[in-house]
Amino acid sequence: AKQQGKDNFQLYAPEMNKKALEQLVLANHLYKALNRDEFLLHYQPQLNLKTGQIVALEALIRWQHPELGLVSPNQFIPLAEETGLIGAIGEWVLQAACTQNRAWQLAGLPPMRIAVNLSARQFQQKISKTIARVLAETGLDPSYLEVEITESIAMHDVNFTICVLQELQDMGVYIAMDDFGTGYSSLATLRRFPLHTLKVAREFVNDITTDQKDAAIIKSIVALGHGLELNVIAEGVETPEQLKFLHAVKCDGMQGYLFSKPLSANAVTQFCQQQSGS
Ligand code: C2E
Ligand code: CA
Ligand code: CA
Repeated sequence: AKQQGKDNFQLYAPEMNKKALEQLVLANHLYKALNRDEFLLHYQPQLNLKTGQIVALEALIRWQHPELGLVSPNQFIPLAEETGLIGAIGEWVLQAACTQNRAWQLAGLPPMRIAVNLSARQFQQKISKTIARVLAETGLDPSYLEVEITESIAMHDVNFTICVLQELQDMGVYIAMDDFGTGYSSLATLRRFPLHTLKVAREFVNDITTDQKDAAIIKSIVALGHGLELNVIAEGVETPEQLKFLHAVKCDGMQGYLFSKPLSANAVTQFCQQQSGS
């Protein structure tokens, strides 16, 4: 609509239209991005705090748009969800991540799991079949794949979640609860989910060395996780002080800029070779 004089000023919200238009343009670009091969994965190492070894790499999608540059997943994953493109994009991520991990294994890197984030829609659509097919196609052993789902995805339909997670666990795939602590899963529900790992949300890790309450929360999550025989990983670890605290409360693992930012596939290869001293 064109501007029809200043009387319409209240009705006309240019900044909203601009946002809507941007989303539309972005959705249109997103639609073409798969065929144009504009997505790539970066990988962030996850460290076992006891052994000091890299046990997993989290695959994080990046969109290299020819004009817009690097678009953050926080900008386009929600859009991909809304438009339904997440199905195809999510499957691309699974394929690419499993293929890469298989390639690293064949190249002789120490075995690590590859962790893939699943979105809500993806989780609702027969994800275990897709995962079984991708594993068969790529030849990756299921125990080297980990899926990350958030608490809110898991809590949406608890019985359905248990059913899907059980299928995945029966296949031998690892399962992590992402952003743990930000959702509202009850302890009674949590114990019904077949899980391996709790990933403590970054917002709790941030202030553990300055905020007594956040420190108490992390301590309790570690105790809770261990009580349920789960692995507990802290994400977003940025300082040596945070790391020290996590050691002290016997957190099992960590991921964060302190150890490494998300890396390109080539950088991972180099990083791992340095780590293992070859
Ligand atoms: P997430 O799953 O919680 O991933 C962790 C995010 O924290 C990543 O942001 C990572 O780069 C960032 N991060 C890691 N260490 C630190 C740190 O020490 N400090 C700070 N400040 N940040 C840190 P990224 O890559 O921008 O991804 C954002 C979100 O986008 C992810 O959050 C995840 O929800 C979503 N996402 C990324 N890749 C995929 C994907 O392939 N599929 C789906 N469905 N979602 C994805
Ligand atoms: Ca994640
Ligand atoms: Ca997370």
